[in-house]
Amino acid sequence: MRLTNLHTHTTYCDGSCGVEVMIQSAIKKNFKSIGISSHGPVPFDTSWNIDRGRIENYIEEVSAMKVKYKNEIDVFLGMELDYIPEIGFGHILEGLTDKLDYYIGSVHFLGTMKNGTMWTVDYSSDELVAGIDDSFNGNVRSAVESYYGLISEMAERYRPTVIGHVDLIKKTNKNNAIFNEHEDWYINAVEKCLDSIKSSGSAIEINTGAIARGYTKEQYPSTHILRTVKEKGIPITINSDAHTAEGIDCKLAEMYVLAISTGFKSVRCLGSNGWVDEEI
Ligand SMILES: [Zn+2]
Ligand SMILES: [Zn+2]
Repeated sequence: MRLTNLHTHTTYCDGSCGVEVMIQSAIKKNFKSIGISSHGPVPFDTSWNIDRGRIENYIEEVSAMKVKYKNEIDVFLGMELDYIPEIGFGHILEGLTDKLDYYIGSVHFLGTMKNGTMWTVDYSSDELVAGIDDSFNGNVRSAVESYYGLISEMAERYRPTVIGHVDLIKKTNKNNAIFNEHEDWYINAVEKCLDSIKSSGSAIEINTGAIARGYTKEQYPSTHILRTVKEKGIPITINSDAHTAEGIDCKLAEMYVLAISTGFKSVRCLGSNGWVDEEI
């Protein structure tokens, strides 16, 4: 198994450590490579996306770290970009993705509250329920289907190399309190989305971020979805979505075991010669 993690956050967004501290932690844990993937810019204020004014700094700092640590670890410059309803990636600054080694395409925002602010599916169950009330007249199924529809649209239009935490909308759905992940309509919505991802050639990440932060016991995607990912022949990558230096390897070893037991033979990794499907 190649020790690597392409989904990490720093103080440029909502992570608690600087870029260099994250890299040093990865070196200490014998990682072969690490990708820094700040939450990309969005066209309104949030507490967790990079400020547009800091993007150049971010690129310069991560690029300098690549050189500084080149004999110890491969460092990659990435971003986790928000695909936003109606805007898509239209808010992403022109030329930004060309400067990156890779980006992770994610959906966090699903609609606009009556007060005009955009809401996310992963902040809290209260926000999820309030957002569904305001944007979907309380129709949970329609909201969930829209969420998976947005991911499909992103995959079809942009073919991101990696799609972030595909079932993020389950994050605050503790004990299936808001919707039931095992009902046919939910499984069908996921399956339709996976078909789009399969055609896009994108990889789905196994992501342990919500476990590290105590939200869920299970990774993204849930194991029953991961089985369908395998059946459809969609490639996977394995990341911890680390927001701390300590969390850089959270449950990664367990996820490799899970991948093997689900039948995966390889994991998509970024190396100095580009993306490769590496045998587990
Ligand atoms: Zn995310
Ligand atoms: Zn993330």
